[in-house]
Amino acid sequence: MEKKFHPGTLCVQAGWQPKKGEPRVLPIYQSTTFKYDNSEQMARLFDLKDEGYFYTRLQNPTNDAVAAKIAALEGGVAAMLTASGQAASFYAVFNICEAGDHFISSNTIYGGTYNLFGVTMKKMGITCTFVDPDATDEEIEAAFRPNTKCFFGETISNPGGHVFDIERFARMAHKHGVPLIVDNTFATPIHCRPFEWGADIVTHSTTKYMDGHACAVGGCIVDSGRFDWMAHADKFPGLCAPDESYHGLAYAKAFGPKAYITKATAQLMRDLGSIQSPENAFLLNLGLESLHLRMRQHVANAQQVAEYLQSDPRVAWISYAGLPNDKYHALAQKYLPQGGCGVIAFGLKGSREEAIRFMDHLKMIAIVTHVADARTCVLHPASHTHRQLSDEQLREAGVAPDLIRLSVGIEDVEDILADIRQALDSM
Ligand SMILES: *Cc1c(COP(=O)(O)O)cnc(C)c1O
Repeated sequence: MEKKFHPGTLCVQAGWQPKKGEPRVLPIYQSTTFKYDNSEQMARLFDLKDEGYFYTRLQNPTNDAVAAKIAALEGGVAAMLTASGQAASFYAVFNICEAGDHFISSNTIYGGTYNLFGVTMKKMGITCTFVDPDATDEEIEAAFRPNTKCFFGETISNPGGHVFDIERFARMAHKHGVPLIVDNTFATPIHCRPFEWGADIVTHSTTKYMDGHACAVGGCIVDSGRFDWMAHADKFPGLCAPDESYHGLAYAKAFGPKAYITKATAQLMRDLGSIQSPENAFLLNLGLESLHLRMRQHVANAQQVAEYLQSDPRVAWISYAGLPNDKYHALAQKYLPQGGCGVIAFGLKGSREEAIRFMDHLKMIAIVTHVADARTCVLHPASHTHRQLSDEQLREAGVAPDLIRLSVGIEDVEDILADIRQALDSM
């Protein structure tokens, strides 16, 4: 069904397709294991000769239905759910890179991903070069090495709100024979489908807008099926050379456009096991059913809040790509014509303590580590998530010391504005 429907219809209808007499609503397959009639049937599954379920660490029907919905929304050929967005980012890169390899990432990305790439993966022998996406093509291309295996960026960066020029980075990545991976968490496929701009693989923290209710941590990886691994077989032995742990099967030959997700499932999930629980996948699916409606409201509310903040003399600066004078407005018009997301970054005049005073005066808007759910919330990265960093280190990580991250929810916007106004007034 999937491709011919519009995104809002896919949100509601894609994924679970019940047959005669089956439940209308996606069931939670709360089972670790699956039954077969004879030994031969099971053996064929283990050889990847037949498709089917045998153990939930690798695959589960609830998860697969939700992954299929996200694949349809992104316009990809296959997808897998992971236990968290962090697991999705790690698997997306680790499915291509091994010890001794190198990859490139935009430096304006989520702090957790920055740490994963710069510190933890380095300990595994995989090195990452961070580049400023605003640098020239020449400067960025200088980061490619013979052992570079992929390029990574975020459609809308968390927390800075920078918009990633997907088409430009896809061109550079492909020129050097490597895929572009885009973390599409903040835009969601409702507002941007990176495959339409040349990205090869998309990742999500489904914890954010996709779930949308802040009740289930999760992640997802989607493959466009378009990157030609065999055309660069020497670069990608993990996909193109025989896998000893599957009797010498070569994924790119055996599975064509589904090679990447099949390898991630059969190899990485088998060995590392960060599956999303089927119950969380069920909750994620409920969230996805209203994603298109919620994104509309997040953006409409955030636009009004951003315009208000920009006009208030107590606000020193604001970053929201929906504002006509924003540095990323032109890119937003190209990649996010229906709006970006509900997250605004701004700073107040005065010292960085002003941010704390402002937040402590908010009444309805809560201080939480979370972002991108139905309830408006706020965070001061320098005092919370990035607490360990000096002002200088903060700037290097692209986080201004006075940056307040306001995640605008889907309440009535008048109440959000009133709370912000009263907090500023009572400081
Ligand atoms: C939150 C987030 C992640 C990490 O996801 P978790 O589900 O918290 O593991 C990755 N990328 C972006 C853009 C995020 O906002």
